[in-house]
Amino acid sequence: MSLPIDLRSDTVTRPTQAMREAMARADVGDDQYGEDPTTNRLQEQMAALLGKEAALWMPSGTMANQVALLVLARAGDEVVTAGEAHAGWHEAGGAAANAGVQIVEVGERGVFTCEQFEAAIKPAGLPVFPATTVVEIENTHNRAGGVVFPQDEVVRICALARQRGVASFLDGARLWNAAVASGRSEGELAQPFDLVSVAFSKGLGAPGGSLLAGSRELIQRANRHRRRLGGAMRQVGIFAAAALHGFEFHRERLAGDHANARRLAERLAACPGVQLDLASVQTNIVVFHLAPGAPDAATVVAQARARGVLLNAFGPRTVRAVTHLDVSAQQCEEAAAQLAGLLAG
Ligand SMILES: *Cc1c(COP(=O)(O)O)cnc(C)c1O
Repeated sequence: MSLPIDLRSDTVTRPTQAMREAMARADVGDDQYGEDPTTNRLQEQMAALLGKEAALWMPSGTMANQVALLVLARAGDEVVTAGEAHAGWHEAGGAAANAGVQIVEVGERGVFTCEQFEAAIKPAGLPVFPATTVVEIENTHNRAGGVVFPQDEVVRICALARQRGVASFLDGARLWNAAVASGRSEGELAQPFDLVSVAFSKGLGAPGGSLLAGSRELIQRANRHRRRLGGAMRQVGIFAAAALHGFEFHRERLAGDHANARRLAERLAACPGVQLDLASVQTNIVVFHLAPGAPDAATVVAQARARGVLLNAFGPRTVRAVTHLDVSAQQCEEAAAQLAGLLAG
């Protein structure tokens, strides 16, 4: 049998030959001494792109998010996010274990309004309440199906946050996808926030690495927390070169991933037993639910695997498929046909 069509995640991509060559060629130095020229170039380029004073390379998006909370909050504080945020669901309890914060989920389908945020801010000055110190927005939102957060609402939320002394953080692991889908630049999407994280290991196809951007002062503090968490590395330029290459050559092609996800979603939505809100399919992620009476997620994932299509079960009756650099339009058509076949049976 040919290799499976792997739609589990956009993290499964392997570096292309050209990316490997860029990595092999990279000028490197000791990043703990600030002497890795390629990492410095990446940090400068990304700070400029995101409209921030400074940026700091991180080994993973999870660490970037942990460091952001360590910088912006104190133990016992509260962080407001959309429902099913990566910070609360996919970081092994790190927000609580590392930053000591608790997460309050608001809104629906990965987004929330300024009014919903305001209602979640605990009154200041009363000793019974935790302090609400951070609002975190995930753009695009993974578990909601790659939805783009409406930027007008982002602007209102961050303005209110500033007014109320709440810091704002953008989990932009897939900010590239949000930019392509919305037609707004990464800089515009990042502008309202105090701190922003982006990932190179998803749609851009690098083997690893994320980055945190913000004011010089916040990034200086982030540097100490990165060290404390064990994330300070040495000849990081090998990774930074992959990130720069992915940024240069794999960003515009994301529109193709979005088109592939759209076609897959349309085929799936027409299948009996599949509940799929096509309005949620805005980028490269398709999250669908299995109605009562349809097979459960574990069964669908196992049957899809037997037909050469890899998916992720996201819940007992929820499945996720993600398009990326290593699956062609034709493979996505083939996957859609296989899934339609098994769901019809
Ligand atoms: C993938 C992801 C991250 C970071 O994940 P790592 O696997 O640690 O790099 C953070 N936020 C979101 C929304 C993600 O999808």
